[in-house]
Amino acid sequence: MNWEQAYRELLKQYNQVKTEYERAIQRVQELESQPRNGASAAAAVKAEVVATDVASPANYEATLKRLVRQIGAILQAEKVVFMLHDPEEGELRAYPPAYGLTEDEIRLLRVRATQGISGEVFREGKPIIVHDAITDPRTSKEHVAMLHIRNLVCVPLILEKRDEENRVIDRQTIGVLHAFNKQRGGHFIDEDVRLLERMARNAAAVIAGMRLYQAILEEKEELVHTIESLRAGLLLVHHNGRVNQMNAAARRVFGLGADVLGKNYTEILNNETIRAMIRAALEEEKEGELVEITVQIDGKEHIYQVQNAIVRGEDQKPMGTVMIFNDITDIRNLERMKSAFVATVSHELRTPLTAIKGFISTLLMDSEDAFTPEDRREFYSIIDQETDRLTRLINDLLNIARIEAGESLKPIYKHVDFYSLSKKVVMIQRQATTKHTIIHDVPEDLPKIVADEDKVDQILTNLLSNAIKYSPNGGEIRVKAWEEDADHIVFYVSDQGMGIPKEHLSRVFEKFHRVDNTDTRKQYGTGLGLYLVKHLVEAIHGGHIWVESEVGVGSTFYVRLPKIPPAVKEGQEQVEK
Ligand code: ADP
Repeated sequence: MNWEQAYRELLKQYNQVKTEYERAIQRVQELESQPRNGASAAAAVKAEVVATDVASPANYEATLKRLVRQIGAILQAEKVVFMLHDPEEGELRAYPPAYGLTEDEIRLLRVRATQGISGEVFREGKPIIVHDAITDPRTSKEHVAMLHIRNLVCVPLILEKRDEENRVIDRQTIGVLHAFNKQRGGHFIDEDVRLLERMARNAAAVIAGMRLYQAILEEKEELVHTIESLRAGLLLVHHNGRVNQMNAAARRVFGLGADVLGKNYTEILNNETIRAMIRAALEEEKEGELVEITVQIDGKEHIYQVQNAIVRGEDQKPMGTVMIFNDITDIRNLERMKSAFVATVSHELRTPLTAIKGFISTLLMDSEDAFTPEDRREFYSIIDQETDRLTRLINDLLNIARIEAGESLKPIYKHVDFYSLSKKVVMIQRQATTKHTIIHDVPEDLPKIVADEDKVDQILTNLLSNAIKYSPNGGEIRVKAWEEDADHIVFYVSDQGMGIPKEHLSRVFEKFHRVDNTDTRKQYGTGLGLYLVKHLVEAIHGGHIWVESEVGVGSTFYVRLPKIPPAVKEGQEQVEK
């Protein structure tokens, strides 16, 4: 994914989070006004519901508890219980708090939404009085026995949605409300039904409020979880300057612990650019700014791109500001490496070209045959070497382009004698240096392997020329190989050169990666060699390459090759004769 795509993706995520956040806020506001609406519609227990001003599960529960107790008292019933509809299970199920029932009895009281008195009341939305529960065919004998029910009244729990003028705009039946056993052997009468219906309306409003509250809690938890695990940092500052949300990635930017919510942003954020951005957002509603900040995290420099936006409520009034922090360190580094690469490639192309042109011009101008045949031979040989160098570079570039395009370099597998191959490469490389002693430490009877000969040559040549290049003071270079087990051979190329710093060890195989210090900078290179080598070892041969190195002591590059590459073993590729 390129940078622009990544950024667009982030903006999309950000917009989603913003919408979610705004929706959650709006729902909390709705919730806060809901119990009051319910109360205004009811007369009997108005005061009770109005008391439910602060939306919290504890408050809802206390209100419901008082409600069932009051219903019991007003109706002179021994037991009062809600049964709520569970659409997933298709059941009506008793829920606490109830009056006169034990917890076990509540748990056991459940029926199919189509059965019995409860089912009928729920379906028809009309109340029912049962004068003799034992003989009435519609009652569940199991429940009658469990709760010692003699008689009962059951009304639907209807949730009414009202508009601002208190007109009912929607009705939904969410369950039923039961009162069992009129005290002192009495019977329920129509007046009891009317009373119970009125109270059921309040109860329904409270229950709906409680459900909404729970739903919002869950939604909020989910949202917080999503925000917390975002890769981008997210900071939400409320209009009053307090931090409403700050996910792990954002806390990392400022080196903060989890204890930040509710604090004023000026207390916890010490970055002046960010503070100014928040200030401008809160005071002047300035948004959409894009700034870059550089921070130290665990002693390493990180570059973040920061963008902000105003979070608005339904009424478009600003509620705060949200900021996204995107770590663009890698992107910046890549950009830097790419420009360094363009510079080195141009240089690498120009150097041999200059030499070639220089010597050809010299030879052309030599009309008087001033140069001896030996001189000429030397000039031609330099032109020859420089042409090879150009060809190698261009091949590397073409190969990289091919790998990038997802085409693997087509291998030609043969039976390869690593002993003779490595001997030849070592001989050629010996000619490139007078400072180094190159030791060929390969047993003559090393078993043959199936491999792409040219590519193994390329691997070895690359490692050897690096060994020479990065040990400018000379020293010993060794090519050693052995049979590791029945299926593998291992070889290494070691040098006594400048070595590779620890933090670069895993990165030298990356594209364009070069160790950047005064010693290495003196050596021309593109940072492509090892990237290609790794591809040749792994993708072409199913092998493995790794490096051990110590600065100032030297480096050893190891390669493990299977005697038969997986592509051949699995029959996708043939071995040529
Ligand atoms: P190049 O040599 O063109 O820069 P390579 O991909 O071959 O690119 O190597 C990447 C980097 O790894 C080099 O720039 C150098 O910093 C480091 N490196 C490779 N081989 C050696 C070595 N034998 N000793 C020390 N450093 C090495």
